[in-house]
Amino acid sequence: MEMESVRSELFAYVKKKRLTYLLLFICLLTGIFLDLALPWFMMNITDSALIGNTDRFRFVLILGIVLLILTFFQNYFDVLIKNYIASYIRNDLRTRLFNHYFKLPITFFNKTKSGQIASKIFNDVNVVGDLMGSTLISLIHGPLVAIAAFIFLLNIQWQLALICGLLGPLIILIGKIFGSSMRKVSGELQEQVAHSQSFVQESVRNIPFVRTYVLGAAMSRKFQGLAKTIFRHDLQKGKAQAALQGSSQAIGFLTFLVAFGFGSYFVLVGDITVGALLAFIQLLNHVVWPFSGLAQVWGLTQESLSACDRIFRVFQENKQFEEFPEKHKVAKEDSRITMNHVSFAYEKEDKKVLKDITLEVKSHQFIAIAGHNGSGKSTIFKLLLGFFPFSGSIQINHQVIEKMSYAELMSYFSFVSQDHYLFSDTVLENIRYGKPEASEAEIVDLIETLKLDDLIHHLPQGLATEAGEGGVNLSGGQRQKVSIARAILRDAPILLFDEATSALDYQSEKQIQAILQQFKHEKTILVIAHNASTIRQADCIVVLDQGEIRSTGTHEELIHTNRYYQDLYREYETGNEQLTTI
Ligand code: ADP
Repeated sequence: MEMESVRSELFAYVKKKRLTYLLLFICLLTGIFLDLALPWFMMNITDSALIGNTDRFRFVLILGIVLLILTFFQNYFDVLIKNYIASYIRNDLRTRLFNHYFKLPITFFNKTKSGQIASKIFNDVNVVGDLMGSTLISLIHGPLVAIAAFIFLLNIQWQLALICGLLGPLIILIGKIFGSSMRKVSGELQEQVAHSQSFVQESVRNIPFVRTYVLGAAMSRKFQGLAKTIFRHDLQKGKAQAALQGSSQAIGFLTFLVAFGFGSYFVLVGDITVGALLAFIQLLNHVVWPFSGLAQVWGLTQESLSACDRIFRVFQENKQFEEFPEKHKVAKEDSRITMNHVSFAYEKEDKKVLKDITLEVKSHQFIAIAGHNGSGKSTIFKLLLGFFPFSGSIQINHQVIEKMSYAELMSYFSFVSQDHYLFSDTVLENIRYGKPEASEAEIVDLIETLKLDDLIHHLPQGLATEAGEGGVNLSGGQRQKVSIARAILRDAPILLFDEATSALDYQSEKQIQAILQQFKHEKTILVIAHNASTIRQADCIVVLDQGEIRSTGTHEELIHTNRYYQDLYREYETGNEQLTTI
């Protein structure tokens, strides 16, 4: 990405938050004013002491105290505003990135690792926040202070060296006091970040599910809540930082007041000159430090710009749709699928995975797709779900799927995959993903209708049981039951069902078979069969072999006439069939 476009993206934020940046600039100018007011104070209080003008001495001392208070507030607001800008930009970029990712085509996720995505959303976004909040301002502040201080220095004589050594230890002490509270706030923030990071990773891992259940908007809302919590912790950290900075700066100033008390005494007794004392402090603080710190700030800026580049590249990826689609209503009665001469090869692969597939699935028909591992069964599902472009045509109710909106196409399907796409949430919430607006009573009713009561009675906390990441707390059978209940709750006219590969216990297998029977004449059902009994149940079996349809027919028709099917069926019966996941 061109540095020019990175700069314009960043400038857009400055423009959007111009009022806040203006406040920050006022803070910066006030800071420089205070930086120069200190030596002014020093000089004046010393002069007053030298000439023994106690009234003026008292007046300047009061001004000094005003400057001390101003220093605290200037630093407090400076840090607070910087943190506000950084937090705002982080929150905005994070949410924009997440939304953008969930609008990209599935093919994007085939070439991108979920860890990279999460790292951009969290680590890179943090760096950009730092850049826009403080690094950029430091780049301006350092040289400005140095120039201003240098001009001042030209007007005074410098020789004195002492007392400033006191500054360091005092600031270190303050650092220690506030350090522990900072660590606590940072720890909490980190925890929240890790939590949201795993939500992002899970959501990315489960992207086909999010797509087919049209959950983009629901997921985005959930993520907005998580991002807001991070935002709040970020602000808390900012407050702790502001208090630390304000106090340490004020203590620094206080040390100057004390140092000047001594300095003035030395001046009075003739050991040192006033100019030397002033020049030293000036030089030390405002001339040397900005320049020695500049290299570090510059390095940080470069690092930040490369993070910006990584983020803004994502925004250049073409989205599949502009807005998250909402659910679409389709007629349930008619859900026929027609595939005409469909051929397909995966990107960058020469070999065709599907070759000239022509298939007619009538409304409410129950089709079992059988075939060896790699014969193309899952790929048929992926094409129906619009994951990849292909040659030939697929129609649902005589409508070409490429011409349908994403929302309309998805509204035809409930999809149960081998990977059950479970979230670290309760069983109830996992089922609710099928229809986010469903009430608990509706879900319980459905479970009873499906005769899956064991999900309520056999789990330790019933439907409130935590499924664990990817459903680790559930058995294979329970996972399959949760995902089938979710699919039925979605109530789409076509059920795409990739049966469990690992053998389920007898009872679970019977329960799932019964559900398929129950909906046999209500829905169009396509099952990637891994089970002999499912095959027998089907109205029609489609036998796939190396991407081609070898034969179609009922079990009775094929078992007597088709040698290839006979062998395949025997493998299904003995459980030797080689299996895959979508
Ligand atoms: P089945 O479901 O019958 O086991 P698949 O449809 O999963 O078969 O796979 C068919 C062929 O496509 C296999 O050779 C598999 O290796 C290949 N394949 C599947 N997914 C991809 C992919 N994302 N990229 C490249 N090749 C793939």
